[in-house]
Parts: sequence; structure tokens; C-alpha cells
Amino acid sequence: MPLSRASTMNILITGGSRGIGRAAARLAGARGWNVGVNYSNNAEAAEAAVREVQQAGGQAVAIQGDVTQETDVIHMFEQMERSFGALHGAVINAGIVAPSSRLADMSVERLRRVLDTNVLGAYICAREAARRLPASSSSERSTSIVIISSAAARLGSPNEYVDYAGSKGAMDTLTIGLSKELGPANVRVNAVRPGIIDTDIHASAGDPGRLQRIGNQTPLGRAGSAGETAEAIVWLLSPASSYITGTHIDVAGGR
Ligand code: NAP
Repeated sequence: MPLSRASTMNILITGGSRGIGRAAARLAGARGWNVGVNYSNNAEAAEAAVREVQQAGGQAVAIQGDVTQETDVIHMFEQMERSFGALHGAVINAGIVAPSSRLADMSVERLRRVLDTNVLGAYICAREAARRLPASSSSERSTSIVIISSAAARLGSPNEYVDYAGSKGAMDTLTIGLSKELGPANVRVNAVRPGIIDTDIHASAGDPGRLQRIGNQTPLGRAGSAGETAEAIVWLLSPASSYITGTHIDVAGGR
């Protein structure tokens, strides 16, 4: 029988202002949860995401902060706690991808930017969550970290972005290690590996056509939606997944 949490959950989502993070924020709002919507540049999108959470039935606050900056991340978690109290869950979601290229043609600046955001940023955020999520002796009160990896971690993404794929491989490994560190405290750590999902990330990497091109090649014959990805994220945050930790859930249409 699914366990239920007696009180509202307080969830921080990095990169919660657009795409997959925003859909997860909206779904968490529909559960009546309190959501910290982190963003780095686009305040307008973050405010729109906050309104969507509120319209869905939850409470939300927009929290600016660059995940690559330790002081920003610490302030982000502090602001979340000031707004809602103790944290119950975090979604380590903020990530970027650069234009398609072979490794031989990638500049060090590009590699640094991708790895700084997707690996260092995620590790700093996961560290802060690990420091703050309360230990519990009750599975009903377990807290949860959901790390957003990618099917690219399995596929390697040759000729497109092996830098990004490697950064997501690091997320898979972080999930395994951190789940073992935090399991005794009843803090669960899982990863969601989206495949090709309809968000702005493809256009921002200069390849909006990628969505349909790759989507058509999946067994389900289409790209996924941010909402479909959010279902897995919110389930992993919730007490319904209370005996699940250290896993990677593919939301990738069979690819
Ligand atoms: P998106 O639509 O481009 O949204 C990215 C979000 O991350 C935005 O809210 C952005 O905020 C935020 N962000 C970027 N850099 C940041 C930084 N340094 N600090 C704080 N926030 C930052 O991307 P998405 O498609 O939803 O992707 C979300 C996650 O899913 C990423 O980790 C991505 O790698 C992963 N993923 C996506 C797909 C896909 O097909 N879409 C597939 C596999 C995995 P601003 O707008 O303010 O910069």
C-alpha cells in the first residue's frame, strides 16, 4: 500500500523555471507541495513557473542562483528553508548542452562550461541537499533526491556531444554512491534518464529539428513531453517510491 506523508512536502528544483524542471514544479504543485523554482538568467520564466505551481494548488517561490557558484547554491537552499522550512526533497535538474560537434573539434571553453554546469553544479547542489535533508527512522518520512541524468549516459552521443554524455554518466555514478551514503539516514537518491524530450534545450543548442529526427527513431516513434518526464520525478520524490533508492529510471520511449 502506498505510504502517505502527513504534511506538505518542500521541494527545491534546480532549473525549475523551464522545460522538465518546470513540468515537475507544476506537478508537485498539483500535489499541494511547496516548490522552490531555481533559475539562473530568465526571471520572467521563473515567475511564470511560480504562477503555474500556484494555479495547480501549491505554493512556490522563484530563487535565482547559478548552480556553478557555491555561494549561490548555499543561498538558494537557505532561501528555500526561509520560505518553507525544512527541506523534504531536491531535484538536481539544471543542465545545458552545446551545439553538436566531434570531441576533436571541442574547445576547452566549451568542455569547461558543460562540465562545470552539469557535473560540478550538480555535485554542489547534491552536496547541499545531502547536508540538509533530515535523517529519519521512518520510511513514511523518507526524504528524496532526484538527479536528472540522460539516456546519453548510456548511448555516448558520438559526433554530437560526448562531453554532455559523460557529464550525465557522472550523474548515474553520483546516484549510486550517494544513495549508499544516505540510505542509512533514509534519504533516497535516484536518477531519471530522459531520452529525447520536447523542451527548448535542443533549440538552445542550435538544433531544434533534433526533436523530431531522433524522436522518430525511438521504439515509441516520438519525442516525449516534459510532463511525462515529470511523472517519474514526482513519483520518486513521493513516499509512493519509499523502497526505491540507487536506481536509474529511463523515460526514453524505449531508446
Ligand atoms: P531547458 O528547457 O533548457 O531548461 C534548463 C533549465 O536549467 C532552465 O530553468 C535554466 O534556467 C536552468 N539552468 C541552466 N543553467 C543553469 C545554471 N548554471 N544555474 C541554474 N539554473 C540553470 O532544459 P531541459 O530540457 O528541461 O533539461 C533539464 C534537464 O534534463 C537537464 O539536466 C538536461 O540535461 C536533462 N535532459 C533533457 C533532455 C531533453 O531532451 N530535453 C534529455 C535528457 C536529459 P535559465 O533559463 O534561467 O538559464
